Amino acid sequence: MRKIILTGDRPTGRLHIGHYVGSLRQRVELQNSGLYDMIFIMIADAQALTDNIDNPEKVRQNIIEVALDYLACGLDSTKSTLFVQSQISELFELSFYYMNLVTVSRLQRNPTIKMEIKMRNFGKNIPVGFFTYPISQAADITAFKATTVPVGEDQLPMIELTKEIVRKFNSLYGKVLVEPEALLPDNKACQRLPGIDGKSKMSKSLNNCIYLSDTADEVKKKVMNMYTDPNHLRVEDPGNVEGNPVFTYLDAFCKNEHFSRYFPEYNNLDELKEHYTKGGLGDVKVKKFLNAILQEELEPIRKRRAEFAKDIPEVYNILKKGNYMAREVAANTLAEVKSAMKINYF
Ligand code: ATP
Ligand code: MG
Repeated sequence: MRKIILTGDRPTGRLHIGHYVGSLRQRVELQNSGLYDMIFIMIADAQALTDNIDNPEKVRQNIIEVALDYLACGLDSTKSTLFVQSQISELFELSFYYMNLVTVSRLQRNPTIKMEIKMRNFGKNIPVGFFTYPISQAADITAFKATTVPVGEDQLPMIELTKEIVRKFNSLYGKVLVEPEALLPDNKACQRLPGIDGKSKMSKSLNNCIYLSDTADEVKKKVMNMYTDPNHLRVEDPGNVEGNPVFTYLDAFCKNEHFSRYFPEYNNLDELKEHYTKGGLGDVKVKKFLNAILQEELEPIRKRRAEFAKDIPEVYNILKKGNYMAREVAANTLAEVKSAMKINYF
């Protein structure tokens, strides 16, 4: 079977280091591994509109920001197809047919949707489009017959639903669709990176992010102001590394070699954690270390971003070409779906 990747991001803001460790870094590795036959990376603007319907300008502007973040991280348009969801109308047709394969109560049980509805204070006024976006996500994934979907942990319920839709469709109409597998980063800290405020998820909507495009100064300021263990008041106090985002970021980014470069008093992260837990290690020192590591990782990304940003029309061209290729694949799947469903009258 062909190995195909589909994944994407909502253009609701620039991408942050949570996206980077949760999915982006792995995508680039997979792209460069040569193990995949096709890679589709989608800017999910139609999905972004489901909770931003009053702010289309925000979504429009962030399409280019997300595309720049992609290119800056090393996604390469000669190896991966970068495209914009709304431009592939076949996806919405598929979505409409899948809607009959899913029940309202099944959607209501989706823990990510539940949490997102609460976070957005929708109350009883949940937009139907927002509520059903997991179905639209199933359409996105299956349109490309994706076998692998690299995502953060919050997306697992969406992949589960996609599998159910595939099984239901194939059992009713014959084997047309392909069941995808989610691919999470191995490192637990990367599956759901917390915000700089200590909230459980760094998220554009929560305003608690370090963006890939932040300047060196902005990154430093954010790191130095990060939430840590609130009971670690004096240097001598014993500190807690669990639920302390500074240490979670170190779990996500730190390698042993960073110690010899920036913190030679320690050999590895375990030693650093041990000292912090025992007491006698101040937050400022740890934050300075984290800042050095982040700067090292983000500097080349910032530089490449600035290069690509010099030629925005070329970035739009990349997306236009991607749309064209994506549409061809999605149209083929839609034709197979319609024929399996006997909607091929003429
Ligand atoms: P929004 O708040 O608009 O939903 P978001 O920050 O959650 O934005 P998405 O575009 O919804 O970002 O997510 C894109 C991808 O990044 C998904 O695969 C998601 O799992 C992953 N991701 C997002 N935030 C994090 C995070 N904090 N840690 C790890 N992965 C993340
Ligand atoms: Mg999200």
